[in-house]
Amino acid sequence: MLQISNLKAGYGRLNALRGIDLSVKKSEIVFIVGPNGAGKSTLLKVVSGLMKPWSGEIRFENEVINGQPPERLCREGLVLVPEGRSIFSSLTVEENLALGGMGRRDKDVLEADLDTVLNTFPILRERIKGVAGHLSGGEQQQLAIARAILQQPALIMIDEPSLGLAPLMIDEVYASLKALNERTGMTLLIVEQSTARILKLADRVNVLRNGEIVLSKHKSEIGDPALLEEAYFGYV
Ligand code: ATP
Repeated sequence: MLQISNLKAGYGRLNALRGIDLSVKKSEIVFIVGPNGAGKSTLLKVVSGLMKPWSGEIRFENEVINGQPPERLCREGLVLVPEGRSIFSSLTVEENLALGGMGRRDKDVLEADLDTVLNTFPILRERIKGVAGHLSGGEQQQLAIARAILQQPALIMIDEPSLGLAPLMIDEVYASLKALNERTGMTLLIVEQSTARILKLADRVNVLRNGEIVLSKHKSEIGDPALLEEAYFGYV
């Protein structure tokens, strides 16, 4: 579904991505983990069209998408949930969710999807008429993910879904994402700083360090989680 080859990108003279190769197959849950400043957010920005790559190739559903604007990629089914709060804070939860479903014509299915999303993130149902800016950081994160799901993307990219969430909430969000993936086959590319939790969910884990993928393993190949830690901290 997504194939990235020798992708390079950066800011001014700073080389943030130094030749990334990465692929995501349909219905997989793929993680990119790495320490602060590794280039994780930059990679998602480039793939989602928010930032132009210097060189290399990005293919989505077999079409080269380098340099295409984010709105177009969004329409084609590639949606980014950026790091932090990306909701409209002065609108209500309901209005934010409505924006997610705006481009859809299948209003009946949309109703059912909305119901599913609200079952997945029950706090959003409780706060449906409330102003989104009054939600906690973690609740806003759930709203951002829920809104993206309603766009029915083929591939949803999420930048640090655990950011600012209490441990129990992280487990819940991940359980919801896993259930969504199992039910709908939605493909997920998720960026995380920590390797904790991800092994239960991941079909593939990529460790990004200093703008390079230093390890990429299918779940069947990760016998010992220490392997990931070693790649993460640079011992391999
Ligand atoms: P974190 O986990 O801290 O969010 P990250 O892995 O997402 O880190 P990036 O945000 O992609 O890392 O940053 C990669 C490199 O690019 C870092 O050296 C960072 O300082 C630099 N960088 C990121 N954004 C910009 C920017 N807008 N202008 C200049 N340099 C930037």
